[in-house]
Amino acid sequence: MSHVLHRAARAKPPTAVRAQGLVIEDKEGRRYLDASGGAAVSCLGHGHPRVVEAVRHQAGTLAFAHTGFFTSEPAEQLADLLIGQAPAGIDQVYFTCGGSESVEAALKLARQYFVETGQPQRRHFIARRQSYHGNTLGALAVGGNMWRREPYAPLLMEAHHVAPCFAYRFKEEAESEEAYGARLADELEAKIRELGPETVAAFVAETVVGATAGAVPPVAGYFRRVREVCDRHGVLLILDEVMSGMGRTGTLHACEQEGIAPDIMTIAKGLGAGYQPIGAVLFSRRIMEALLAGSGAFMHGHTYNGHPVACAAGVAVLETLREENLLENVRAMGELMQSRLDARLGQNPHVGDIRGRGLFRAVELVADRESKACFDPALKLNARIKAEAMQRGLMVYPMGGTVDGRQGDHVLLAPPFIVGPSDVETIVERLGEAVEAALASVQ
Ligand code: PLP
Repeated sequence: MSHVLHRAARAKPPTAVRAQGLVIEDKEGRRYLDASGGAAVSCLGHGHPRVVEAVRHQAGTLAFAHTGFFTSEPAEQLADLLIGQAPAGIDQVYFTCGGSESVEAALKLARQYFVETGQPQRRHFIARRQSYHGNTLGALAVGGNMWRREPYAPLLMEAHHVAPCFAYRFKEEAESEEAYGARLADELEAKIRELGPETVAAFVAETVVGATAGAVPPVAGYFRRVREVCDRHGVLLILDEVMSGMGRTGTLHACEQEGIAPDIMTIAKGLGAGYQPIGAVLFSRRIMEALLAGSGAFMHGHTYNGHPVACAAGVAVLETLREENLLENVRAMGELMQSRLDARLGQNPHVGDIRGRGLFRAVELVADRESKACFDPALKLNARIKAEAMQRGLMVYPMGGTVDGRQGDHVLLAPPFIVGPSDVETIVERLGEAVEAALASVQ
């Protein structure tokens, strides 16, 4: 038996030994086409020579210098690159080692901002059901993924949840997108009023929802209204772009497509593209000024924050995105993927919705298309799809979302930004076969 505790504790996954471009190879020589970037991580594909060289060079030059003593050139350079392309008003960066760490830091930063500015009564966080913000305790508390929360519920801080923006599931048929977005923003405002506006610190949301519901974009205008509600009550807006950011949806930050800027934004995954574990919290000048005028320090920190090798990888990733014009390919291949998925699976009676932005797409499976009823979770349809896909040499990211307290099934696609048209064809064809085989096995 393996001494490693794997995610599925009873199963031993194949041993990955090498990867290049879009393909990961295991010890038995089986090859898998990476159509999910792991979990929306490997945005440049595998073995990109520029990032590999940047990591090698930095490890040999300055592998580590504790941020309690030093800053480093890669950290400063990466922060400059990020701020040069950040949403309006954002001009500071705090580095972390991943997504959950970024969310924890964002929550603490929001809280500290209010302590520094003489509003210590602001302690409540409001987030949305059907969202995932990470697995550490603070991130889990604001998250709306019930099955991940359940065993730890007694340990979690209090957090408040409102409805997600999930048009396929929850928009009334007769309701316009605009009216739906306004209804949700009103619900947020009602929650703020119920808690007492002077007690609310921040609203936390994924700009495009990832793992929990499957590439769910907001309806037009929703975030503009949310921004207005937050501003009206002095509540900070934290956007979690750990999965949907760093170019995944076709713009560097998903919120660019919403025409708004958050006060705090979390990123990770694509920032290191899998070459190094790195995340970041981007935040506004207003928050930085409050820290500077107040205690002068963020009361937080981890040993590996701002790790020079991780930051050097981040610099190489951002430069590669720009120099190889990859966001244009994300937009073009994303459109192609949507149309190929529509053509291959759109008529399947168990495919309820195919959606997403850029190279962040999902197929939602339903037992009944008319009522949108979910499959019985005991059938583990999403796990069957994963297994069928792996057998066909395809890595996709099927998950069980939570729909009205029940487990739904969707498959997330988040391939590296280097995919070409023939890769898209192969991905869609293999996924079509895997979905059909998994559906046949539960009927
Ligand atoms: N936030 C979002 C939106 C995520 O999708 C994830 C991971 O999937 C996280 C936070 C947590 O990131 P990590 O797994 O790097 O801790």
